[in-house]
Amino acid sequence: MNGLFDMDISEMTALMKELGEAPYRAGQVFSKLQMGYSIDEMSELPKALREKLKSLPLHGVRIERKLISRDGTIKYLFLLDDGNIIESVYMNYKHGGTLCISTQAGCRMGCVFCASTIGGLSRNLTAGEMAAQCAAAERDNAAEPAGGGRAVTNVVMMGCGEPLDNYENAVKFIRLAGDPRGMGISPRNISLSTCALVPQMKKLAEEGLPVTLCISLHAARDEIRKKLMPAASAYSVRDIIDAARLYVSRTGRRVIFEYAPIKGLNDSPEDAKMLASHLKNLQCHVNLIYLNPAREAALEPLEHKDMKRFEAILKAEGVSVTIRRSLGKDIQGACGQLRSSRLE
Ligand code: SAH
Repeated sequence: MNGLFDMDISEMTALMKELGEAPYRAGQVFSKLQMGYSIDEMSELPKALREKLKSLPLHGVRIERKLISRDGTIKYLFLLDDGNIIESVYMNYKHGGTLCISTQAGCRMGCVFCASTIGGLSRNLTAGEMAAQCAAAERDNAAEPAGGGRAVTNVVMMGCGEPLDNYENAVKFIRLAGDPRGMGISPRNISLSTCALVPQMKKLAEEGLPVTLCISLHAARDEIRKKLMPAASAYSVRDIIDAARLYVSRTGRRVIFEYAPIKGLNDSPEDAKMLASHLKNLQCHVNLIYLNPAREAALEPLEHKDMKRFEAILKAEGVSVTIRRSLGKDIQGACGQLRSSRLE
C-alpha cells in the first residue's frame, strides 16, 4: 500500500476524495510533506484531517543519528517505519547542497569492494522513502541553505542499494522530486548511479527523464570486472557501452563512468588505454575514485601519484576525466560503512 510520502498529486487528490475532503487539500499536504514538515505542523489543515492522515502509513524517515564531518559533510542515519536503518550524506557546496540518498535497505549486487552489500538486501525502499530522505535533509538544513533559498538542490542516487534493481520506485521518486509543488528538483539535477544493469539502463533512456546516468564500470576488461562485480557476469563492458550510447542519444545527456583503480588489478597503463578505446566518440566523463576501505581487505587504493599517472594516460587518450575528491572520511562517509557498522 502507498504511504503518504509515496503519493503524487493525483494519488493525493484521490485520497482526499476518499476521506471526504476538498481536493485543494491534496496540494497543501503534498507540499508540506515533501518539504519535510510533519503532519502536526500542518496548521492550515483542520485537526480532524490531521488525525486521519496520522492513522495512515507514512513511509517517511526519522533522524536516528547525525554525524558532522570536519569538512562540513553530514551523515544521516535514518529510521524507517518498519525499523530498517538507512543512510544519506549531505554535502554542502558553494553552488548548492547535494544529498546522496539510499534506494534500498542493503543491496544484493555483491560487489566485492562495497560495504552496502555485506548483509544482502533487506528490502526495496519506496519512492516516498527516497523523497523523505530529501525532505528530512532539506528541513534539517533549512536554516543555512547552501544554494540560497533551498538546502537540497541536487540529489545523487548513489547511497546504499542499486536503484535500477528497484526500478519502478526509483523512477517514481524522480517524478515526485521534480514536482514544483514539492521539492521541485529537476531531473537534470539528479544523478542515478548503477552497477550497469543493461536492460534497465535502456528502459530508463526511454522515460523522458534527463537524469545524469552514472555507471560504475571499475574495469575495462570483462575478466577483471567479473572478479569485482557479480553483475558483470550478465552484461559485458561492450553491452554497457552500447547502452550508454543509447542513453546519450535519447536524453542528450553525457554519461559519467565511475572507476576506482585498485592496486595491481585494473590500474595498468593498458587498462587506462583499453578504457579510453571503449569510450571513443561517446559523450562522457570519467570520475576516478579513491577506493575506500573495502569489504575485501586485500583490495588496495592507489597512491596519489599513481592516480595522477592513470589520469594522465586517460587525458592523453582524449578522455574527459577528473579525480573525485573524498568528503566525510572521518564520519564513515562512504556508502554503507556506517549502516554496516551499526548492523554489527
Ligand atoms: N549500486 C549503485 C549505487 C550505489 S554505489 C552503483 O553501483 O553505482 C555508489 C558508488 O560507490 C558506486 O560507483 C560504487 O562502485 C562506489 N563504491 C562502492 N564501494 C566503494 C569503495 N569501497 N570505494 C570506492 N567506491 C565505492
